[in-house]
Amino acid sequence: MISLSTTYAQGLGEILYDSHEIYYEKTITKRRFGYQTLVNRIEGLKKNNLFEVSIATKSTEGRNIYLIKCGTGKTKVMLWSQMHGDEPTATMALADIFNFLENKKDSSTRKINLILDNLREELLKKCTFYFVPMLNPDGAEAWTRYTNLGIDMNRDALALQTPEGQLLKQLVFDLKPDFGFNLHDKNRRYSAGQSGNLATMSFLATAYNEAEDVNPTRKRAMQIIVGMNQAVQLYIPNAVGRWVSDFEPRAFGDNIQKWGTTLILIESGGYKNDPEKQYIRKLNFVSLLTGLQMIANKSYKKQGVKEYEQLPINSKAIYDLIIRNVTIKKGESIFKADLAINRNERPVKGKDYFTNSSEIEEIGDMSVFFGTDEIEAMGMEIIAEKEIGLGSKADFQLVKEGKLIYTIKNGRIE
Ligand SMILES: [Zn+2]
Repeated sequence: MISLSTTYAQGLGEILYDSHEIYYEKTITKRRFGYQTLVNRIEGLKKNNLFEVSIATKSTEGRNIYLIKCGTGKTKVMLWSQMHGDEPTATMALADIFNFLENKKDSSTRKINLILDNLREELLKKCTFYFVPMLNPDGAEAWTRYTNLGIDMNRDALALQTPEGQLLKQLVFDLKPDFGFNLHDKNRRYSAGQSGNLATMSFLATAYNEAEDVNPTRKRAMQIIVGMNQAVQLYIPNAVGRWVSDFEPRAFGDNIQKWGTTLILIESGGYKNDPEKQYIRKLNFVSLLTGLQMIANKSYKKQGVKEYEQLPINSKAIYDLIIRNVTIKKGESIFKADLAINRNERPVKGKDYFTNSSEIEEIGDMSVFFGTDEIEAMGMEIIAEKEIGLGSKADFQLVKEGKLIYTIKNGRIE
């Protein structure tokens, strides 16, 4: 039986999903949109007195890290993104959420307008929001996980050697947010459980101790995640995962939960044919606003935690392409095997795009793995200009009885 809260969360989720293009921040269309693009958008918010924009600190390389405050409510919610420089999906969604809160444009139907207006009003009346988008601008510019010091900020919650990490701790201690959203990306090949479904989004109510106990602070995170998950399941069924929850004493998520803020971790993963993660950005928009509404109207209190516990744990079961049962010749040997191939992304320095370089990562029995693309190649043999092997680029043809069936070029089926 579908509970009332389920229906409601899905109802709002659908409206947000359908309305996303209205609020889509058009200056950001790619993952490597760059620091300055974000700064321009944030500077633009200063024109609207809904937002209080301040420079919270400077990064190691002297870039501004902004704090954006809005809303007048009692419940304090802090959202920060991109502490890992190459994890920008949620930053794009936050830019869209700024547009939603600004209410720049309207949707076409009055009924939808009314629902969205009510949501906006409720959020701003019940909550005060603190946004810190792109906490690691140096890493974002260099397209790396690390800060300019080469330190993983998410292992710096205790040592506090990075100015960016110092800021995050200081904000949590000064503002004492009731709720926190720690927004990341993860490897796009994670699966939801041991399945062929890419974990397009994953959630975690971070543990606050080694025993992974559930106290009221952490329980609230689980309850909110249940609603956020419901909102996106409609679009990515069985493609939502639960991030592994081992307590990490040096990580911010774990410590912030320990310091008393209800902490929700979101990890954006992969989605087929969405290399720039624009669809995942939209799903972030939907689930984040759903979560914020549950906080504003306290509807999370009606949720159980069972659905949270039932979310499949993230697993690594997926390759970009698996070719099964293909006949391979190597020297004098002729054998049948599966090939697991990935298209590894390489950032082009100083540009906003990537190149892809394919690699044969495994040869052998891949029956326990899945391919985002798969070919059943029984009876086919590999014809390649250069002999292929482990670690080689995936450029070859699949031929059956002398007839060309597939051409594989740099790991893609042509
Ligand atoms: Zn991360």
